[in-house]
Amino acid sequence: MLLFKNIHHIQEYLQKQRASGKSYGFIPTMGALHRGHISLIEASKKENDFTVSSIFVNPTQFNDPLDFEKYPVTIEKDIQLLLQVKCDVLFLPTVNEIYPDGLQTDKNYNLGHLETVLEGKYRPGHFQGVCRVVHRLLDIIKPPVIYLGQKDYQQCMVIKKLTELSGIATGIKICPTLREESGLAMSSRNMRLNEAGKQKASAIYNTLLFLKNNIKKGPLAAIKEEAHAMLAEAAFKTDYIEIADAATLEIQHEWNGKTKIVALAAAFLNDVRLIDNLLLN
Ligand code: AMP
Repeated sequence: MLLFKNIHHIQEYLQKQRASGKSYGFIPTMGALHRGHISLIEASKKENDFTVSSIFVNPTQFNDPLDFEKYPVTIEKDIQLLLQVKCDVLFLPTVNEIYPDGLQTDKNYNLGHLETVLEGKYRPGHFQGVCRVVHRLLDIIKPPVIYLGQKDYQQCMVIKKLTELSGIATGIKICPTLREESGLAMSSRNMRLNEAGKQKASAIYNTLLFLKNNIKKGPLAAIKEEAHAMLAEAAFKTDYIEIADAATLEIQHEWNGKTKIVALAAAFLNDVRLIDNLLLN
């Protein structure tokens, strides 16, 4: 695996690859890699001549400084995993390399409604930070295609919007969420839970499954309340458990039995914030 820390060096390398007609997929990550990340690399390896991943814990997307401080960093182990899966290139930039003009900016991406619902509502500024870093990375790597996880459902929609707003030609592939046997969605933040916590945390998936199995045409207030109660019962402090239009993320108060809908949840177990989602139909 080739490891680049410097932008000019990776750009020079990728320029040569493009000139020789090689296709490549790109998987941006914040490290603390798990099988969910690896599944994206495997998807890219199947479909491209070679695969580039990046590890960068992006300071501008953390609305809570404590969350940034506590974000797990396991770089040696990450590199071992990337070697095992035969990832071809790793980009490992510093904060200065990504943000040479500092972290402050006046630029604002017009994400519309996506910025005020769900994660947008509970993590103000988060998606602006996501857009900044992804825009910068796409500008450097110029990938024909990026691979994203459905685990971050709203983030996938935000990145799609970013490519439309900025006229970026990169294609987007969305890959299924990998889960533990208990149903818990794999996440770097799970590393902050002990074994008992991980078992408890599967209540998020069970609640989403409850919604999938019990959703009916008509008003949704009662079933949402039941879902909320299930999470409270499992000791979660819930930011939201919602049902939204799968294509627009408009919150649904009533379901017509036809529109494609998705259930999305964000909840704290102790001080660890977990998110998950499930398509309901
Ligand atoms: P992160 O390192 O959390 O920024 O995630 C990097 C990429 O991996 C994002 O596209 C995530 O959606 C994706 N990802 C995270 N967890 C999973 C999972 N359990 N299954 C599939 N993809 C995932």
